[in-house]
Amino acid sequence: MVRSRSLLALIGLLVIAAPLPLVAAAAEEPASLLFARLLGPTEIVADFAALTDTIGGRPTGSPALDRAVDWGLARFRAAGLENVHTEEYVAPRLWLPGPESGEVTEPRAPWLPAERAALHVAGLAFSSPTPAAGLEAEVADVGSGDAAGFAAAGARVRGRWILVHTEPMRAIDDLFAEYLATPGIESRAKAGGAVGVLWMSNRPGRLLYRHNLTLDGSLSPLPGALVEREGALRLARLVAAGQTVKVRLKLESASPERAPAKNVVAVVRGREKPDEVVILGAHLDSWDLGRGALDNGCNAALVIDVARQVMALARAGQRPRRTLRFVLYSGEEAGLFGSFGEVRAHRAELDRVRAQVIYDEGTGRTSGFSLGGREDLKPAVDEALAAAGALGPFVQTTDAFVGTDNYDYLVEGVPNLVANQAGVPYLPDYHAESDTFDKADLRELKANAAIAGVLVWGLADRAAIPAPRQSRAEVLALLKATGLEEQMKTFGFWESFDKGARGREP
Ligand SMILES: [Zn+2]
Repeated sequence: MVRSRSLLALIGLLVIAAPLPLVAAAAEEPASLLFARLLGPTEIVADFAALTDTIGGRPTGSPALDRAVDWGLARFRAAGLENVHTEEYVAPRLWLPGPESGEVTEPRAPWLPAERAALHVAGLAFSSPTPAAGLEAEVADVGSGDAAGFAAAGARVRGRWILVHTEPMRAIDDLFAEYLATPGIESRAKAGGAVGVLWMSNRPGRLLYRHNLTLDGSLSPLPGALVEREGALRLARLVAAGQTVKVRLKLESASPERAPAKNVVAVVRGREKPDEVVILGAHLDSWDLGRGALDNGCNAALVIDVARQVMALARAGQRPRRTLRFVLYSGEEAGLFGSFGEVRAHRAELDRVRAQVIYDEGTGRTSGFSLGGREDLKPAVDEALAAAGALGPFVQTTDAFVGTDNYDYLVEGVPNLVANQAGVPYLPDYHAESDTFDKADLRELKANAAIAGVLVWGLADRAAIPAPRQSRAEVLALLKATGLEEQMKTFGFWESFDKGARGREP
């Protein structure tokens, strides 16, 4: 996911970790019982290890994700969940990486072995592949890729790879700024006649990650690659010194259109209003360079663990008033397609979805929840979180953003929440080769599971609904008031909402 939330990231960093509270297992309230169960010994860490160390990185459409879907079904079934199944949807387009390589062909020191001329690269998601033989061209430096940078490079853009500089990523806002700048850079590169885009890694140590070039399922007409920071900086120095610099990249990828994909679903039926639903979800898919640990294997394991403990309470005779639905989404990284597919399939029932809660920021400490612009959700959320007070305090925020699986519920007017989590350790490993199990804070993961469990139980069990579903007019007002409309326009999400294809129907 991507999002902007600098103040909260700061708060998250300032909170000093407190020891996990000891909770009396004999507490009588079901929410407190659930809290204690989730903080006690569970299989969450073993699940997280299996998903990341054994299955690994799992782009939607890959055999690895198919394996993860089977694994998710098996874990829900082993926990005795009800109505465990997959739900199919059709993604407008997926993007699957193939072999990729780069080399500096000029200047080329004859005394260095060929492998030292290698440029460490990763194809950008939803870029076009190069010709099979590779694409060799000179490099033109366009600075940060803004209009001034392109103007300074002038006619040198045509027929060349353009090199786009980035600043080292220090905060989540830097990441968000890059996503916002991407569409403009792409269109300037195309207008200027560039053959492709070389994007400088915003992280040192030759670390690679995959950025999405588009978030709306469209394919960029140009090949594009993330380039190791050290190698890209050297190219920039050589270009600045007036040398002719040439690189050859081979980027293979597949981008199947109208591709079938699946979410994994399990439920615990409500005792009193089984047709009313509260959803807890996290995406199961990931980019492939790392092993999809912080983004988002840890939270897929969280969803399974909460489901397991809620089911254990149900077997002991304690069920929430409404049904809890647990969803492992796919297609998130490709463009939030799994949650969109779910909303499309269940459109007739959305009036009875009372809330959707999403976890998608690694194992950072939960400071509260983003309420998707809904001030009216606050009382219900505060009340539900009371049973997790030992891990608080929790501060809810009413910001809204395009970036994870709550989006389609938001534009459908359904109350939706995203956990606000500390940006460390999430950011340095975001979509990167280094996103592996060892980066997770397992203690915070347990705490987050306990918080998530108590929250969804409370929302599902309270007598009154958390907040009403919004009309299209109310959704529209929210999009304007939160600034979400502008984000949707930048990321290519506005038109589908405006035309009624995605979001609450007019
Ligand atoms: Zn994610």
